[in-house]
Amino acid sequence: MSSLKIRPIKAFEDNYIWCLTNGETCAVVDPGDAKPVLKYCKRNNLQLTDILITHHHSDHTGGVNDLVDAFPGVTVYGPQNPAIQSITQRVKDGDNIKLSALGLEFAIIEVPGHTLDHIAYAGSCGLFCGDTLFSAGCGRLFEGTPNQMYQSLNRLTSLPDDTKVYCTHEYTLANVKFARAVEPNNAALLNYKGWAESQRVDLKPTLPSTIGEQKAINPFLRANSAEVKHQAEHYAGKILPTPEAVFASVRAWKDNF
Ligand code: ZN
Ligand code: FE
Repeated sequence: MSSLKIRPIKAFEDNYIWCLTNGETCAVVDPGDAKPVLKYCKRNNLQLTDILITHHHSDHTGGVNDLVDAFPGVTVYGPQNPAIQSITQRVKDGDNIKLSALGLEFAIIEVPGHTLDHIAYAGSCGLFCGDTLFSAGCGRLFEGTPNQMYQSLNRLTSLPDDTKVYCTHEYTLANVKFARAVEPNNAALLNYKGWAESQRVDLKPTLPSTIGEQKAINPFLRANSAEVKHQAEHYAGKILPTPEAVFASVRAWKDNF
């Protein structure tokens, strides 16, 4: 069996459906659209065996039924939320799943914030975090509170620094623009901006990132940075006594940026 490859399949405007493959079988994460996945499998002669779902939004789940029709017997992993009817194996925090065809294991981390049902898959090959953590950004709080999201992001940043981070959207340049407003003196961020821009000029993904890189450049993970705190307080117009309050202010600022 050849070694594992993780490739982005582009969908919609800016979604990535991550495909994990050994050259014969594959798993996909958050297939919001079946068509590009079916095309990719056909072109590369791949048998889809597993689907991983992070949360209920249709741009992450919309393709599941058609993929199950095309590959009967595929296992669909996902959160407890009964609204996602296509899930065949519901998982919860602390569970471990094994994708036997690919020889991969993932630990499930519940990360409420963007939605209440949101989960992430953490394995030795990387972290699949859906719309919770983006490069230089984080998901909007559609269902959860700032405190929930802050705790969820803390759980992701407790993973090893070299953990690869596979997010579902190419939002990096817009996120970097905001991050620069929050932390104009962050040299690592400025350096990252140059790299990300050159990737996008060539229409290459800016992902995966790593946990270590995100801790250095992502304002949503940097509530303990003096500059982030100062700027978040300026935006809020008051002293923010806790990192949770700093995070909440940065999130509100981004929503209005
Ligand atoms: Zn979403
Ligand atoms: Fe999304």
